[in-house]
Amino acid sequence: MDRRRFLGLAAFTGGALGTMQARSLLNTFSDGAASPRMPALFIGHGNPMNAIQDNPFTRHLRQLGQRLERPKAVLVVSAHWLTRGGSFVSVNPKPATIHDFGGFPEELHRVQYPAPGAPEQARETVANVRSIQVHEDHEMGLDHGAWSVLRHIFPDADVPVFQLSIDWDLTPAEHYALAQELRSLRDKGILLLGSGNVVHNLGRVNWSAPEAPAYDWAVEFDRFVAEHVASGDHQALVDYQRLGAVARLAHPSNDHYLPLLYTLGVRQPGEAAQDIHTGLDMGSISMRSFLLG
Ligand code: ZN
Repeated sequence: MDRRRFLGLAAFTGGALGTMQARSLLNTFSDGAASPRMPALFIGHGNPMNAIQDNPFTRHLRQLGQRLERPKAVLVVSAHWLTRGGSFVSVNPKPATIHDFGGFPEELHRVQYPAPGAPEQARETVANVRSIQVHEDHEMGLDHGAWSVLRHIFPDADVPVFQLSIDWDLTPAEHYALAQELRSLRDKGILLLGSGNVVHNLGRVNWSAPEAPAYDWAVEFDRFVAEHVASGDHQALVDYQRLGAVARLAHPSNDHYLPLLYTLGVRQPGEAAQDIHTGLDMGSISMRSFLLG
């Protein structure tokens, strides 16, 4: 299998819960910088069907898009681009829409998100990282962790998008350190979007009752993340495996957790987190999404 993309996604369905905490999402300007400092996002993408559904979650994404300043480019770190042999950044000027799932309606497979790539910003990203070598990738398209979210935030697909892969061989602490090297990109008009889920256990999804109450461990881990994001205690979130059984239940594998560490890594000191959406789907998928900036 392609070393640059080796993990698929099981099919699942469900609705979305939660409330928007409306607030100003106006950008702040960094001292002396010519570009507005872009916010950073973490979006819990959940069920791929959200790409084509109108529900509270997708409406919150659309409201978010209407409030955001237009970035020069969006850098997506998605749970669905995992690599071995290093981190890769896509310099593809015309990334294809990748339908990296199975068992979904044809309507979802027909979705195209023809946003252009951002080779210039992608190469700038490569240059920013010193701790490890980031490689250029010329073929990667947009996985559904990117386009299923972006088609609601930027429905016209007119904002350039590029992705940075998750090196599956790095520790959470190494991912967080790498992400900190990307912080200055926000001052160059780049919006960082981490796309995963704060709780993600497909094996425990409640298929028969999508709106059944969430598992206790799912609620506990979701709250753990919310509290430490709010307090700015990133170290606790990097060391989340210390929670033991609750952490293993929330993330039997941590592909959907690691994008969170990228969003946190580019946070400016003291920057507040603003909820975009909260709630748990199907008992074991947290849709918690927030903005920093
Ligand atoms: Zn996913």
